[in-house]
Amino acid sequence: MSTTKAYAAHSATSPLTPWTFERRAVGPNDVSIQIAYCGVCHSDIHTARGEWNGTRYPIVPGHEIVGTVTAVGGSVSQWKVGDTVGVGCIVDSCRTCASCQEHQEQFCEAGMTGTYNGIERGTGNTTQGGYSQHIVVDENYVLRIPEGMPLDRTAPLLCAGITTYSPLRKHGAGPGKQVAVVGLGGLGHMAVKIAKAMGARVTVVSHSDKKRDDALRLGADDFLNTSEAGAFRANAKRFDLILDTVSAAHDYNAYLQMVKRGGIMVLVGLPPASPVNPSLLVMQQRCLAGSLIGGIAETQEMLDFCAQHGILSDIETIPAAMVNEAYERMLRSDVRYRFVIDCGTL
Ligand code: NAP
Ligand code: ZN
Ligand code: ZN
Repeated sequence: MSTTKAYAAHSATSPLTPWTFERRAVGPNDVSIQIAYCGVCHSDIHTARGEWNGTRYPIVPGHEIVGTVTAVGGSVSQWKVGDTVGVGCIVDSCRTCASCQEHQEQFCEAGMTGTYNGIERGTGNTTQGGYSQHIVVDENYVLRIPEGMPLDRTAPLLCAGITTYSPLRKHGAGPGKQVAVVGLGGLGHMAVKIAKAMGARVTVVSHSDKKRDDALRLGADDFLNTSEAGAFRANAKRFDLILDTVSAAHDYNAYLQMVKRGGIMVLVGLPPASPVNPSLLVMQQRCLAGSLIGGIAETQEMLDFCAQHGILSDIETIPAAMVNEAYERMLRSDVRYRFVIDCGTL
């Protein structure tokens, strides 16, 4: 066992505060990682505030982890002390079910072990995430950070990067395709960069005009402010693929109108339930789909793709003590475009 300092939520209504806890001992297949940086994902807020129910307190959020290997178990074959590595949203799974065999560990039929608020296989303890000094992870759930990538700007790729890369790739974002990215936050800004690198024409769909200049600077071809009267109707049947990253409740039907005949809208944001009008799907043969992060192998593929295309996150680095303020700003959509905790400040 080893002690680590962290920031934890102790209830759905209390701010995160400093907390110290024990990580499991490094087992034969484990690596221990000194965490350099951890991104702040909106899922951290949903979980810390109990918005998805089932949060086990105290909880240390954080699943956009980068750092350095400081110890390896006796059977570890892929990593050595000093390696620069990442950990995303998954730290374990059953490894034998169909989903695991197909490298889709996020859909493990026995339940994937989330990096935080999961149940650690073997101990039954609640897993604790990356707002901490170090983490112990099975070697098969560790990612290689390509050489030369700055660690702070790479951390958000471990969730925001893979969550957007996977559906963009699966649903054919590429040359000749009109892609809309709804919500320019952590996920959204990665989606813009990745979809552009894939060759698509990209429009940012935002709920105010505040991020217009940033959207174009990030590489978007066009910008659409949905608070303008008639915005949805004026863009009816325009997009082949809409990727919806919005974290707050909103009317899916309004956005569905903008999907071309036979096109698709993919939800990755996880706000509370909201009704969908079937006729919007039926009458134009539209698809409505969802997507959950990505498997370990695809996460490595995404990191290599981003390295190859020079894609990094635009970040604001913060000391751990500022995490509550970061949450408040994210809830006001005031994020440019990912907060990243410098875990050296813990
Ligand atoms: P974020 O950085 O806080 O960005 C969310 C964006 O949503 C905001 O920046 C804002 O963009 C937009 N938005 C907020 N309120 C809105 C409203 N009322 N109407 C329309 N748009 C609104 O969040 P994130 O970290 O990117 O996460 C986004 C969502 O994805 C969260 O629900 C998170 O839990 C979920 N998520 C899912 C997965 C998955 O695997 N499916 C993985 C990670 C995260 P504008 O200012 O541009 O409108
Ligand atoms: Zn996340
Ligand atoms: Zn499985």
